[in-house]
This record gives sequence, structure tokens and C-alpha cells, in this order.
Amino acid sequence: MIPVDLGSAHVGIDKDPDTCPICKHKIVPNAVYNHANARHPKGFFQRLYRVYECPNEECSELYIAYYDLQTGRRASTSGINSYELKFVEPTCVDSSVIPQEIIDISSQYVRIKIQAEEAEQRSLSEVSGIAYRKALEFLVKDYAIHCAPEKEKEIKVKALSKVIKTQFKDSPRIVAAAERAAWLGNDETHYIRKWTNHDIQDLKRLLSIVEHLITTEEQLKQYEKELQPS
Ligand SMILES: [Zn+2]
Repeated sequence: MIPVDLGSAHVGIDKDPDTCPICKHKIVPNAVYNHANARHPKGFFQRLYRVYECPNEECSELYIAYYDLQTGRRASTSGINSYELKFVEPTCVDSSVIPQEIIDISSQYVRIKIQAEEAEQRSLSEVSGIAYRKALEFLVKDYAIHCAPEKEKEIKVKALSKVIKTQFKDSPRIVAAAERAAWLGNDETHYIRKWTNHDIQDLKRLLSIVEHLITTEEQLKQYEKELQPS
């Protein structure tokens, strides 16, 4: 536990954030200010705010980490309340890691994925999974339309599972990954979970596999066009 002096009280936090949310570098941040919200009638603070400065000279930005009182540990054996890191603001998603081929195929996918990542970073776990599911649908349908523009109307209204099965018959690996991503994505929207041993992290991995497979296919198509046998 890292001790924090609030002036009127001494508390502890579980950890400092080890990555700057702005420049994305691994850092040992400098805490420059601490603040706690109004005291609960029972005498403890519910939330702790800690302002940090990024030590990376090219960045040097400030950001805020939010800590909540650890459940069931209002008073540790030392009598000091302990707080747990919840999220960091600002939430800056690095869109530069999305391949250009994907951006060209579906700008809407990129927008939704960035919003899903922002929701996840803010611990909005009830909605981030649904957003990843929506992102998957846009990526798959927009890629299907990209490959078969004459079928645009039909693809737009078809169920996602049908689009995966019918439009990617020649790409079994895309079908395998996209189908599984859709199964886990549907779990995020339903009342009862079907795939209880898998979670949003698996959904994100599968989404990333779909992205890679589409990127590889598109890059290969380009080289096949450019380098014809003589
Ligand atoms: Zn930084």
C-alpha cells in the first residue's frame, strides 16, 4: 500500500498508474496533488483523486487517477483506509494502431471501436462489450460490401451470422474468427451468458484476429494486382 497524505487524513492506495494515458509510455509518475470528496457521514472518503505529471519530457502532461474505497476494507489493521485504482483520465485511445486497410474499409468501425475502448478504460463494463459487438458487425458488413458492392442492400439488412457464413465462404479463417467473435459479442447483449469461460478480453482478441485476417487479405490482393506473372 502506498501512503497518501490528505492533510486532514492519512490513507493508502493500491498502486500508481504505470502508463501515461496521453503518450502511452511506461512511467513512474510524479503525484502532484491529492484530493478526496466530501466525507461520508460515517467518517470516510468514498473517492480519492490524484493528479499526476508524466515524467516523459516530451509529454509532461497532467492526468487524474480515480480511486475508490476498497470494499470491505474501510479500516485496515493499521486503521488506514485503502483505495483502489479505478480509471485514469483523459482516456486517449491510440487509433494509430488500426491498419490503414481497415480505416479505408470502414471508418464507422474505427469510430465505434474507439468509443468501445474509451468505455472500457472508464470501467463502463456493462456497455463496452456491446460496443465491441457493434464494431464487429460494422467491420464484417463493410468488408462484405467492399468485396461484393453489388450486394450492398442485401448485406446491410441480413443478420450478422448469415453475412459471415454466406459472404466469406472462400475465407474459412475469417468465418472461424468472426463467428466466434459474434457468439461472445451476443453474450454481451443477452440476459443470460452462454459462454461463461470467455469474456470481453476474448472478444477483443477475436476482433483483432478478424482485423488482421482482413488486412492480410487486402494486402495480398494488392500485390496480386501489382505483380502479375509475365
Ligand atoms: Zn506522457
